[in-house]
Amino acid sequence: MKVIIIGSGIAGLASAIRLACAGHQVTVFEANAYPGGKLSEIYSDGFRFDAGPSLFTLPQLVDELYTLAGKVPQDHFSYLRLVKSCNYFFEDGTRFSAFHNREEMAEELKNKLGIKDPTPFFNQLDKANIRYQLTAPIFIEKSLHRLKNHFSIETFKGILNMGKLNLFESMNQENEKIFTNKYLHFYFNRFATYNGSNPYQTPALLNMIPHLEHNIGSYFPIKGMYSITQSIFDLAKELGVEFHFISKVEEILVKDNNACGVKVNGIEFFSDVVLSNMDIHPTYKKLLPKVKAPNRILKQEKSSSALIFYWGINKVFGELDLHNILFTENYKEEFDTIFTKKSIYKDPTIYINITSKLKHDDAPKDCENWFVMINVPNNQGQDWDKLIKDAKTKIIQKIERTLKVDISNLILTEQILDPRTIEIKTSSFAGALYGNASNNRYAAFLRHKNFSSTISGLYFCGGSVHPGGGIPLCLNSAKIVSKLISDDYR
Ligand SMILES: Cc1cc2nc3c(=O)[nH]c(=O)nc-3n(C[C@H](O)[C@H](O)[C@H](O)COP(=O)(O)OP(=O)(O)OC[C@H]3O[C@@H](n4cnc5c(N)ncnc54)[C@H](O)[C@@H]3O)c2cc1C
Repeated sequence: MKVIIIGSGIAGLASAIRLACAGHQVTVFEANAYPGGKLSEIYSDGFRFDAGPSLFTLPQLVDELYTLAGKVPQDHFSYLRLVKSCNYFFEDGTRFSAFHNREEMAEELKNKLGIKDPTPFFNQLDKANIRYQLTAPIFIEKSLHRLKNHFSIETFKGILNMGKLNLFESMNQENEKIFTNKYLHFYFNRFATYNGSNPYQTPALLNMIPHLEHNIGSYFPIKGMYSITQSIFDLAKELGVEFHFISKVEEILVKDNNACGVKVNGIEFFSDVVLSNMDIHPTYKKLLPKVKAPNRILKQEKSSSALIFYWGINKVFGELDLHNILFTENYKEEFDTIFTKKSIYKDPTIYINITSKLKHDDAPKDCENWFVMINVPNNQGQDWDKLIKDAKTKIIQKIERTLKVDISNLILTEQILDPRTIEIKTSSFAGALYGNASNNRYAAFLRHKNFSSTISGLYFCGGSVHPGGGIPLCLNSAKIVSKLISDDYR
């Protein structure tokens, strides 16, 4: 069977591998000159930067692709498990680090935050584990939109244990009850940003996110995040997948309610199945203009976006690690500014990712490659040039207050990514990083399904559809959609 995939984001690549392994003839059309979409890299004056994702969890989902292709994953893609997941800095001088090992974490809580009894901290992580085990098999690993998937042991278990999921409070409501310690309250609320949501609105159920980082672990690919893209792209080519770059799909061809191909640069290419890895919003609005769009789904609130400065820094900082967070003083106001005022907060939480800490050739000697990111609203036509200029000043001042160093004199090279350029480079609607936000308890049900119910042969994968954004969920969407296609065309 011939399958055409629109886009070579992580979900498009993973789907291509799965479908090629199932014996299909797969062709990928990609608008950019390179694969990977958001998971790409940039070079600047001797520095290399991973341009998008920096936090890597559930690497076994990448390994699975190699195993499926009959290969040993470690021969092609290697990664290490981090001992320390992140350093946290507060304006009042408080600092602590998150460790995977529970004894080390307990010591850190005692020494840095004066917490003698770490039980509530670990109880919250155990609860995260239970919630993940109860919900992942239903909400993450399967299509939510095929009736037969609802009649399973997993669904039955989920229903029996509904009380443990806390469906009626927000993430913040639960965390502020458990953690009177301000630093831990901020710490647990931050996990809402892992899918671009607001902890003051997102359901407490998403307090399961720390399970991935703390209990399972966070990882770093030895050759950098972009090696995830590079290695699975190589695997797809080896399996015979055909790639066409600088090939923007202009239209999905539909005949008698069947998707039968795509139009690229005015030329029609035919297939039995079309799988779109393009954001669902422009897939309907640009590629299927004659088809009635599911507007209720498309109008759901989108996730936050990001403003990133890629700085080549002329110094090595001993107190920084791979992942570092400089917290705002007022998290509530920061999220209100992003999600309600649609602007950038005056004291933003700053994330600094430095891959040269582990991959030394990412920066010249005695230098570091800083990926400096703040959460910002998605693109609603704000005056970004002004917002970015102001934000840069505030970011530099905050780093200088925290690290007691004149950082502006250390910046050797700079590139910037903002919601507008994210949208232009990846076609992600409004430059949202994760498709829809999870700011209400129905969000999981209001993501687009992985197939069209009106046009046969049309399927969807990637961060804007079920089960959502972020590398692990995108890899799951590839798994779900490939199974749907195999089941439908058995
Ligand atoms: C700055 C940033 C930081 C992030 N941090 C993390 C993180 O730390 N951890 C994490 O897990 N996730 C993170 N994410 C989210 C993660 O990157 C995404 O969820 C994931 O990469 C999306 O993959 P995707 O398969 O949906 O495709 P995308 O990456 O969105 O790619 C879609 C591809 O389709 C192509 N395309 C679109 N339209 C067409 C067309 N008409 N014709 C041909 N090709 C087309 C695009 O050019 C693009 O290559 C981050 C994202 C960003 C931007």
